[in-house]
Amino acid sequence: MKFCIYEVREDERQMLERLRQKYDLELILTSQPLNLETASLAAGCDGVSTLGHSQLNRDVLNKLAEMGIHACSSRCIGINHIDMDAARELKIRISNACYSPYGVADYTVMLMLMLIRRYKPALWRQQVNDYSLGGLMGRELRGMTVGIIGTGRIGCAVMQNLSGFGCKLLCSDVRENPEAARLGEYVTVDEIFSRCDMISLHTPLLDSTRYLVNERTLSLMKPDGMLVNCARGELMDIQAVTRAIENQKIGGVAMDVFEKEDGIYHHDCRTDILKNRDMAYLRQFPNVIMTQHMAFYTMEAVDSMVTCGIESLVAFVQGKEYFCEIA
Ligand code: NAD
Repeated sequence: MKFCIYEVREDERQMLERLRQKYDLELILTSQPLNLETASLAAGCDGVSTLGHSQLNRDVLNKLAEMGIHACSSRCIGINHIDMDAARELKIRISNACYSPYGVADYTVMLMLMLIRRYKPALWRQQVNDYSLGGLMGRELRGMTVGIIGTGRIGCAVMQNLSGFGCKLLCSDVRENPEAARLGEYVTVDEIFSRCDMISLHTPLLDSTRYLVNERTLSLMKPDGMLVNCARGELMDIQAVTRAIENQKIGGVAMDVFEKEDGIYHHDCRTDILKNRDMAYLRQFPNVIMTQHMAFYTMEAVDSMVTCGIESLVAFVQGKEYFCEIA
């Protein structure tokens, strides 16, 4: 079997080599994304694999089908870059990656603690030998009400993590998860915004969740309420969030994701002019923490992503089922 693996990162190579040997594969590895121009690299292959920066739109999928390729894996969880209707029509089998929710859940709790202990300005001070305490007084999670929006795999794991901290847990979702109901109380989204000291977003990006954090929901928040977003940048109306920070209507925000992060996050942009003005502006605030979409990035998760990416292609070519095929 021969596969073309797009968007290969250095940290994936060792695992790819192990799988190549295990399944006796021929692999073409490239750091480029899959698009109409790069599709020809996969000529003669039985399958292709990408990360999330390849646009698997109808044109690209058509091109794959013309080349006789009917197996495609995306080595990440999100599937908003794949035209699944086109894939079904063209009979291209598609899989995504499945990995444990705990990497993102642990990272979420880390961001919460960094916010409430004012770790960003403390870190700045350390670097210039300023060991003063003024302005760094924090709060304890135990006394807080924490709200989780989206109680799927990650949201529920965050609630499990937080259950050890002794805080009160509220949650909201369009469908109830029994484990989340055991750990916290289901309330409406508006109640999350009005009652919680800390709010964390864990829904996918859908029409119903786009700009879930907006002028109206922000106005419901407590003046020292804080937000964490480890899900998708587009869940927040960043203009409204920026105004809330500027006018000190909320206590702080931590974001591992940002609207229009593509082309910036996961790249070294040190000598570039940043194209995302909101990102560059918000970064300055002591109570705004931003990280480069890395909550998922653990050794365990990368191993699972590469394994799902290769094993699903092997299964598809052999006409077998695979547990993370997208129906
Ligand atoms: P999941 O599908 O297990 O859970 C999502 C939950 O959101 C579901 O319970 C669903 O019912 C709920 N939901 C959908 N619409 C809703 C709405 N309108 N209001 C309230 N709840 C709603 O997904 P997951 O594995 O927990 O991942 C959640 C999101 O985290 C992903 O979609 C992805 O965008 C993001 N993510 C980010 C990273 C990162 O590195 N920062 C890594 C993995 C996933």
